[in-house]
Amino acid sequence: MRRFIRIIRNILLLVIAAMVILAGVLTFNVVTHRSRQIEVFAVPRAPIDRQGAATRLSEAIRFRTISNFLNPEQDAEALRGLQAHIAKSFPKFHATAKREIVAGYSLLYAWEGSDAKAPPIALLAHQDVVPIAPGTEKDWQQPPFDGVIADGFIWGRGSWDDKGNLYSMLEAAEAMARDGFRPKRTAYFAFGHDEEVAGVRGAKAIAATLASRGVRLDFVLDEGLLIAEGLIKGLDKPAALIGVAEKGYATLVLTAHATPGHSSMPPRDTAIGVMSAALARLEDNRLPMQIRGTVSEMFDTLAPEMSGFNRVALSNLWLFKPLLLREFEKSGPSEATVRTTTALTIFQAGDKDSKPATRTMCCPATPRPPSTSA
Ligand SMILES: [Zn+2]
Repeated sequence: MRRFIRIIRNILLLVIAAMVILAGVLTFNVVTHRSRQIEVFAVPRAPIDRQGAATRLSEAIRFRTISNFLNPEQDAEALRGLQAHIAKSFPKFHATAKREIVAGYSLLYAWEGSDAKAPPIALLAHQDVVPIAPGTEKDWQQPPFDGVIADGFIWGRGSWDDKGNLYSMLEAAEAMARDGFRPKRTAYFAFGHDEEVAGVRGAKAIAATLASRGVRLDFVLDEGLLIAEGLIKGLDKPAALIGVAEKGYATLVLTAHATPGHSSMPPRDTAIGVMSAALARLEDNRLPMQIRGTVSEMFDTLAPEMSGFNRVALSNLWLFKPLLLREFEKSGPSEATVRTTTALTIFQAGDKDSKPATRTMCCPATPRPPSTSA
């Protein structure tokens, strides 16, 4: 009995010692994981004509610049209207910067710098928007193309993505031009017209135009992510999320063929059944989650700014990685940061329910096979 108690006591001591060592390692990793933030002083806020800026953006939303890949001319008139509105709204900038139209509807402005040797930069935005899904018009709290200003917001398609960006840049440039500012380095403002359908006409042509002139940009600022406040668990400070690349994608078409047959005497395996089983297995076997590259760097940067358990967990990924990944798996956007996602998007199968027609009841003839490829 005494020997048994001694064994239990030793095991307990070992467990306690292991826990103390573990706590020590966790704490050490938290303490030595220092903040990467650099001390910067905020630029004083420039005075803004809030009402004027809001009105200009709300008017911009009324131009239905909905791009269409197959019909590039679909929004030609709306684009011309928007461009006239831009020219009218920002006269000082237009008197200062050189404007050219690229590929019919894209805009490229060059605000020439005072130092010809300073490497130029480019600020990007796009003029087009995506359409409204048919039948969802009544789901909008405010009409999508009216540019309503209400409850402290400007409502409508493009108010954020991306006329909001485009007009904000021009509001700033207009105010600076009015004050007689001249940039040291040349600043390009490039506004494509078909970004929502891949930008193969607009952005591509702008890039080719700049390349043909030997322009090498020091950096490019495009539309992107937001300053997240209260979106990241355990982080009380605002975090500026920087998009450094865009996720690419590949589209695969899967086809199954099976023996056709009438639904009154169907084959054992239908193409719809075979394909459905395969697709269900695809959904059950997703690509593995991993923390590496920019995601790992993001966690490294965020960890010291966090509080509580999240800080401990992110500073000790060697231990908490599985737990963290399980958390990330719970929501679509967070899951997409740690995994190559797969999605089943379009399904086509069959064209007839193949109820036997009355006629076939009286006069048995060769049944017409339904199409059974998926
Ligand atoms: Zn956009």
